Amino acid sequence: EGPVIIVGAGHGGYQVAASLRQAGFAERICLINDEAHLPYQRPPLSKAYIKGSAGPESLMFRPEKFYQDQKIELISGRAVSIDRAARKLLLASSETLPYGHLVLATGARNRLLDLPNANLPDVKYLRILDESEALRAIIPSKSRVVVIGAGFIGLEFAATARIKGLDVDVLELAPRVMARAVTAEVSEYFQARHREAGIRIHLGVQATSIEAENGKVTGVSLSDGRHLPADLVVVGVGVLPNIELAAEAGLPVAAGIIVDEYLSTADPDISAIGDCALFASPRFGGSLRLESVQNATDHARCLAARLTGDKKPYDGHPWFWSDQGDDKLQIAGLTTGYDRVVLRGDPAKKAFSAFCYHGDRLLGIESINRAGDHMFGRRLQAMDRSITPEQAADESFDLKSALA
Ligand code: FAD
Repeated sequence: EGPVIIVGAGHGGYQVAASLRQAGFAERICLINDEAHLPYQRPPLSKAYIKGSAGPESLMFRPEKFYQDQKIELISGRAVSIDRAARKLLLASSETLPYGHLVLATGARNRLLDLPNANLPDVKYLRILDESEALRAIIPSKSRVVVIGAGFIGLEFAATARIKGLDVDVLELAPRVMARAVTAEVSEYFQARHREAGIRIHLGVQATSIEAENGKVTGVSLSDGRHLPADLVVVGVGVLPNIELAAEAGLPVAAGIIVDEYLSTADPDISAIGDCALFASPRFGGSLRLESVQNATDHARCLAARLTGDKKPYDGHPWFWSDQGDDKLQIAGLTTGYDRVVLRGDPAKKAFSAFCYHGDRLLGIESINRAGDHMFGRRLQAMDRSITPEQAADESFDLKSALA
């Protein structure tokens, strides 16, 4: 009962508002937006947006008229505190908004590099549209970039920068790229592909300092003593979930805002979704915090259903994608904890999938340029089915037969 106030107008926040109206929710909905744009899609920021010349409007989920027609109040500003006893949200503008239900969809922010010179204008991050715009604008005047961090965003940017004609070095502390997220087979494939494109990848090293002259970056020094010249540094060393608003209101937080399987915090009038939420997952037997569009939008739909009378635990099936140069990686399921990897297809032909098993249990599938395998994986998981490692490895085994 009462207004739904949503903090954060990213993928999760936008979707809760849209899904609430779709489900017939008739009361006030406010979407607190601390970015100077209509709600927009984040994935293209490190991919197509940097490559192309389309304007910011190409990223928007919906035009302004949608919010007017749907009576979704977009309020510019930042939420600064929650008065739980009075059920009011305070904004930086000093405006207070009473809520019936409060949704925290605050996402995550860049983890900052703790090095001298890391705050110079030529050291860039990539999380929000303004940062992507800034990078796109300066790339033509740059010739050599060092990318710190070989996660998804670092590699997507590196591939794009190379296509744009920059000389590119990538630094990664781990012994392989995307080490926390994908199998060694997939890391090796991408290392080879990026190197073929002319990107230098340095593994097992760290940036120890950024050198500059007259406020302009001149290079990066590495932990192994080497020095790489550069006129641009792009940092992709992960994110920190935005949990402070919840923590300061006395809500339990850990590596995210702690919510139960219904995405409710310890306060039944406050929920948290998306990148900021550490949610209880009966399916995966523990708490998870995921950073993906699927997670944020499926959380949002689950919460909107609960707020309109259809209360079910969240049980989404994780999936993800990353476009790097000409290669498309798609992941179905959560592959952490695998002890066996079976390949289907051929890395040499630039099309294969890594089926990840724990014992005989299929945990997930990482597909490279094999969209069919990816869709198969998602459908299989939705049906709570599996195929054996032998079937996965056998290209003559018809995947469709497992879905019949
Ligand atoms: P966000 O979309 O981050 O939105 C949170 C919003 O809340 C932000 O606008 C933030 O400024 C705002 N906010 C925070 N605190 C406050 C406050 N106190 N008051 C008001 N507003 C506040 N995922 C994929 O699945 N595939 C991809 O290919 C992919 N590519 C990506 C590429 C890039 C460059 C980035 C940055 C992310 C990518 N992701 C991708 C991840 C995906 O975008 C995120 O998981 C998703 O945006 C999470 O949605 P969210 O609503 O939880 O948070």
